[in-house]
Amino acid sequence: MSRRDMAKPLLGHRSTEGDPGITPAAGRTIGVLGSGDFARSLAIRLVCSGFKVVVGSRNPKRKANLFPSAAEVTFQAEAVKKTDVIFVAVFREHYSTLCDLADVLVGKILVDVSNNTEINHHKESNAEYLASLFPACTVVKGFNVVSAWTLQSGARDGNKQVLICSNNQEAKRTVAEIAQVMGFTPVDMGCMSSACEIENIPLRLLPAWKIPIFLALGLFLCFFTYNLIRQVIHPYIRENKNKLYKIPIEVVNTTLPCVSYVMLSLVYLPGVLAACSQLYYGTKYRRFPDWLDQWLLHRKQIGLLSFFCAALHAVYSLCLPMRRSHRYLLIETAVKQAVEKKMNIWVEEEVWRMEIYISVGIIALGLLSLLAITSLPSIANSLNWREFSFVQSTLGFIALVISTLHTLTYGWSRAFDENQYKFYLPPTYTLTLLVPCTVIIAKVIFSLPCIQHRLMRIRRGWEKGRYVKFVLPSATGEYSSGETSSNV
Ligand code: NAP
Repeated sequence: MSRRDMAKPLLGHRSTEGDPGITPAAGRTIGVLGSGDFARSLAIRLVCSGFKVVVGSRNPKRKANLFPSAAEVTFQAEAVKKTDVIFVAVFREHYSTLCDLADVLVGKILVDVSNNTEINHHKESNAEYLASLFPACTVVKGFNVVSAWTLQSGARDGNKQVLICSNNQEAKRTVAEIAQVMGFTPVDMGCMSSACEIENIPLRLLPAWKIPIFLALGLFLCFFTYNLIRQVIHPYIRENKNKLYKIPIEVVNTTLPCVSYVMLSLVYLPGVLAACSQLYYGTKYRRFPDWLDQWLLHRKQIGLLSFFCAALHAVYSLCLPMRRSHRYLLIETAVKQAVEKKMNIWVEEEVWRMEIYISVGIIALGLLSLLAITSLPSIANSLNWREFSFVQSTLGFIALVISTLHTLTYGWSRAFDENQYKFYLPPTYTLTLLVPCTVIIAKVIFSLPCIQHRLMRIRRGWEKGRYVKFVLPSATGEYSSGETSSNV
């Protein structure tokens, strides 16, 4: 690089001087039709970003004092004449009332910011409808995914992405530049046919969370019923004891760790199944079945729900000694022991079991918190791929192993005590161990050098039955190349 090149800043504003075709985004006049909440917030943000703003209202005199003094509030037709880019901050139902402006709108860019009240409410999207009413204008869909509140509070305090689509590339670029100057991140969603999808986005309720939430609720219901039978129904039927008081805290608190533990193992199970499939077919290019694809895509949400249940379990457990029932039972035991003149109630094995059980539980919760924090986009974006994979994959697996130790120390020798089999039902913790132990065993098998090596080759493009040149890192981290034929 020459000295002259090095003197130039790497990043800087693109100069538009001397280029008559390009108007600098900031500084240009932007029109806003409508004077409602969205129009007001938009005008404030545009003014703060250095644009001249002209607002078109049906009643400018009454609305002028609602806008910053730097914005001009005038009649709709007047506003439209003064600018080439106009944000239509009016509900779809009122688009037809703007038809009187058709002549002055010819050749202008209209930004459709509208949303609907229901998913796929109309046959055609609002933006397409607006384009059909004003065929002499260029319509761009955008800004509908940001709320009036986000616009006012600034892009730093809300969703930064602005999804944009249009059939006209130039108009789309102009609106994207405006969004960028306002501090947003424009995302090109392609042509106008994407408008419907963009309009549906603000109406979707946690789309990525539906399956994980139903999974968590399903597991909770199953384990809750199982625990209810063991802890409440069994003593009632067999000993005629009323243990209903256990439902709000004890039964819930024995259910939550089961859900959390199984959910954590379900984060790693699809990876194991994917590896099995790759090993079996000897290729990474074969598509996984849809259900496995979906499962792999939802691992983050499943992991976060596992953390949520674990956190609730920790809070519930801390609250256990606060309960009246606990105090009564404690006093009852103390009185019994006094009556029996038992002085030494210290059971060394029980003491150790409890110490280890709580300690590993705290470590597991700590690791789960770390996994949850690093899955937040702002944190995940600051990690490189190796760091992210180390936390999510290695530390996540360690969390699963430690959670298994937590479960085993909880159970201790109870699995071998026949009194624990209520209605012949084994203790709940023995059931929860099934999936996690399968995952742990599979992971251990996959880490055996012969299998790990084969899996690594497959993941680098090697295929069974094909003669390919491959390059693999050696144990020392150096790359060695070689040629291999099919079934090596
Ligand atoms: P709003 O407060 O009800 O304002 C709508 C404005 O439309 C009115 O102030 C009115 O201004 C104007 N308008 C023009 N012709 C009209 C007519 N015939 N009848 C009634 N009003 C007419 O609604 P808003 O919350 O600002 O929403 C405006 C648009 O932005 C909607 O399409 C909405 O989906 C979209 N949006 C809003 C938000 C948000 O957070 N609010 C977020 C994303 C998208 P004049 O009386 O001055 O003409």
